[in-house]
Amino acid sequence: MLVIENANVVLEDRIMRGGTVIVEGDRIAGLSKRCVPHDWGNAERFDARGLYVGPGFVDIHVHGGGGHMFYSEPGKAAEHFLRHGETTVLATLYYDLTKERFLDAIGRVKAAMAVQDGGPIRGFYMEGPYMNPAYGASPEKNCWKGVIRPEDYTGIVDLAGGLAKVWAVAPERDGVEDFVKYAKKVNPGARIAVGHSEATPEQIRRLREYGLSIATHCMDATGSRTEWVGTRGCGPDEACMLDDDMYAELICDSLGVHVCPDLIKLLIKVKGFSKVMLITDSFVSGEAPPDRLKDVPDLSFDGAGNLSGSRLTMDMACRNLVRHTGCTMEQAFLMASGNPARAIGMYGEIGSIAKGKRADLVICNEMFDVKHVVMSGRFITRREDDDNA
Ligand SMILES: [Zn+2]
Repeated sequence: MLVIENANVVLEDRIMRGGTVIVEGDRIAGLSKRCVPHDWGNAERFDARGLYVGPGFVDIHVHGGGGHMFYSEPGKAAEHFLRHGETTVLATLYYDLTKERFLDAIGRVKAAMAVQDGGPIRGFYMEGPYMNPAYGASPEKNCWKGVIRPEDYTGIVDLAGGLAKVWAVAPERDGVEDFVKYAKKVNPGARIAVGHSEATPEQIRRLREYGLSIATHCMDATGSRTEWVGTRGCGPDEACMLDDDMYAELICDSLGVHVCPDLIKLLIKVKGFSKVMLITDSFVSGEAPPDRLKDVPDLSFDGAGNLSGSRLTMDMACRNLVRHTGCTMEQAFLMASGNPARAIGMYGEIGSIAKGKRADLVICNEMFDVKHVVMSGRFITRREDDDNA
């Protein structure tokens, strides 16, 4: 048993000041409001000294970080994010990978999950292969252009099986409906996302019955078509804003490069705090363009110097969000833990501090500087050199 005392416990709608969190094994056993003197027997006790204790971060869209990509070194990548409070991650594979590399990566991630049983990797986010090449960072590399054919995808879908929590597609691609149908047949619990796309709201709505409920990095790598010059089109971003049931992923970097602060505020204004979820979309970065943005710590660039994802971790994303929008700590945690857990159907298990849930906790100060992490009831203290890792 582990007892965390003198904590500001971050609940979904408020902060419980001076609270106690009780952990038994890998589960949250209870919460109590004040540190009433109590005989905890030989339980391990931890004095949080007024630090915030929030639910572990859930990063559903993350490619790699700390020098390690999930497709090649999933265990090391997961460790990097765990140190920043990410107790649940979906290893995110993407459209630039060939079929062989998809298969290889799925095998590697599965092997890492077997080794780190009860660890942060809980499945896959498949960002592709069927995106719109016009909205990729490097369309010339995209090897999944042309007709969508079952002989190309069945092997990947079968191997990922029930671990594929999200399949992101561009709904305007020919043959996408059969692909999505097959993905749902293999894993009925999988969610469908619209991303790297210029689909019309009608094309997006057509996939609703197959579980389309997520907008992949909303306001980023999307477009729209218009018939008349000078008019405004309605694309995936607008379709997401219109649909109350859809979750919007948000990349929240320090300069507001992916999504500028005014658009972040607009998105939250329309969707509400319960339907926006932070993702890192983190990569192992190439070189920044020589003249600018070189020292920005949370942007990532591809080999050609184009913006390609981020180098965020979820603690940084929360800090940026509070700075850009003035939202509260509990709202930031909601967007970094509760909402993504709901979006992938895991809220019964993770995403908030509640009795019976997995004991995944972030212990941080008011600036989201992570001091300790608890994953499955296991206490992990951050080392000073972690920031350089
Ligand atoms: Zn993307």
